[in-house]
Parts: sequence; C-alpha cells; structure tokens
Amino acid sequence: MYIYAGDALARYGFGEGHPLGPDRFNAFWQAFQHSDLVGRCSIKAPVQGTAEDARLFHSAEYVRRVRLLSELGVGMLDPDTPIFPGIYETALVVVGTVLDAVNEIMQGHTAEAFVPIAGLHHASRTSSAGFCVFNDCGIAIEALRQRHRVRRILYIDIDAHHADGVFYAFEQDPDLLFIDVHEDGRYLYPGTGSENECGSGAARGSKLNIPLPPGATDELFFSHWPKIAGVMERHHPEFIILQCGADSLAGDPITHLQFSDQVHYQTAKRVRDYAQATCGGRILALGGGGYNRANIARAWLRTLHGLIPDQDGNSPD
Ligand SMILES: [Zn+2]
Repeated sequence: MYIYAGDALARYGFGEGHPLGPDRFNAFWQAFQHSDLVGRCSIKAPVQGTAEDARLFHSAEYVRRVRLLSELGVGMLDPDTPIFPGIYETALVVVGTVLDAVNEIMQGHTAEAFVPIAGLHHASRTSSAGFCVFNDCGIAIEALRQRHRVRRILYIDIDAHHADGVFYAFEQDPDLLFIDVHEDGRYLYPGTGSENECGSGAARGSKLNIPLPPGATDELFFSHWPKIAGVMERHHPEFIILQCGADSLAGDPITHLQFSDQVHYQTAKRVRDYAQATCGGRILALGGGGYNRANIARAWLRTLHGLIPDQDGNSPD
C-alpha cells in the first residue's frame, strides 16, 4: 500500500476555518502516524501535475481559465469554490499525485494506493464545483484509458455527496461502472443522483445511484449491499477507484448521514476481496470529503484497515 503524504498535497484547501481547510491532511496524518498502519505502508511524496494531465479530462479552455484566475488570485471559481493565489499549481499537485498512484499501480509496484487529499468528484469537464477545481477521479479514469489501455473501470463512492462530476462525464460510457451511495439530492448538494439515473444509451445499467434519506445509518447502507455486489460481479473491472469521503459519518457539520466507520471498513474490505478476485487487487483509494476533523482520521484509517489485511491475512473487525 502506497500512501501519499506531504505539504504540497496538504495545501489544497481554502484557508483555516473553511470546511475544506488545509488542516484536513494533518488530521489524518497525525492519527496515521500513531496507528498500527505505520510500517505496513510505503510513504510517497506528492507529485506536481501538468496542464496536459488536467486536459485528460478537462477542456483546454477551462484549464487555461483556472491558470489565469490563479494569477489574479481573488474572487470565486464558482459559487462554492474561492480562488487563492497559486490555486492552479496547488490543484495540479492533487492531479499529479493521483496520476503517479495510477502509474505505480499499473507498473505493478503496488496493488493499492491511497491519496488522502483527492477524490474531488464535483468538477465537470468545463467547470469547477463544490470545492473541487480539477476532478482527479475523472482524470484518473481518462489516464487509465488513454495512457494505460485500461477500459473497464469500477468507480465506487461512499462520500455523502453525489459524484455528479464523474457521473455526468461518463453517463454514456458502458465501460465505467459507477456505484454511488449518497445522501438524497433533495436534501443535500449537488441535488443529483436519483435512483433512476442509471446511465443512458448503451451505458444503461452501468450506473447505480443509491440515494439515502437524512439520518440513514449503517443498517440502511448494508441493506443495499446485495444490489451493489450483484452489479459489481457482472462488470469484471480491470481497475477499481474507491472514493471514501468521510462526510458520510455521523457528526459531519455539513451533511446528515449517520454512518459509523464500519461502512468505510466493510466497504474497503469487500471491495478489496473483489479486487483480489477480479483485477489483481488494483485499487486506488481517494480521500474525498469530510469536514469533521476527527471523522476524517477515523474514516480514512478504517478504510486503510479494510484495504490492508494484517500479518495473518485477516483484517481486524
Ligand atoms: Zn462530500
């Protein structure tokens, strides 16, 4: 398991006091360093990405716009995403780091990698959205297709918010299996992801949206697992991306789901078992959202526990 850590990655945030502040990385990192996971993971430094990397998914015009606004250094990219000086380069670190993880996995140096500050699933091909400048999930999918000749990919997302930036970009793509459990869009940003949004044209049935009501607990989450497992088993992916946003845990200040960290642990463990059986164990985990600092540490550590079996080959329950 490769874990990407370092100041360049931690800097992606919108200032102290903002829900997506730069202190999120340290909330995870402090807990990680005191956990039993140290010694079972290789720590890797963040990597600077390029405009060309961002253009794998985004339009050239949008990438240029972010660079220009970053030089100005003030204002808003969209109603939720403030601009700060250097936001372009900072956002490209997330991109470059995720692509480095994709490369390392595809070269067989590791089967699993985790990038804590990543999983920015709201940005569309032509715009930022919801604190997300560049959509590293979409960029990873395009990099797998364009640079690594991998077509069949499973994207699974347990962040409280619907991954609209990923969903709509690949809505007509039958080779992108998309599974997203999130808070019902009638109650939470971005408002999309109803269960009848299941892909269009040849891609119909390749997208599984599971909206849950505010207050939903583990029991409701796990009641949907047979459906998730059934869809996964029909797809045979070559690569799996897991967005393990921490904002679905009880106590998040901006969402209303009430999961315990068992959701993150069990999802990671089951996805890992599936990856072992289907795609040589290849999983890229992306941290996603999460605005309660204690929950960030808990959700991401439990995800890692699920992805890394202990020395006896078992995972701690
Ligand atoms: Zn979220």
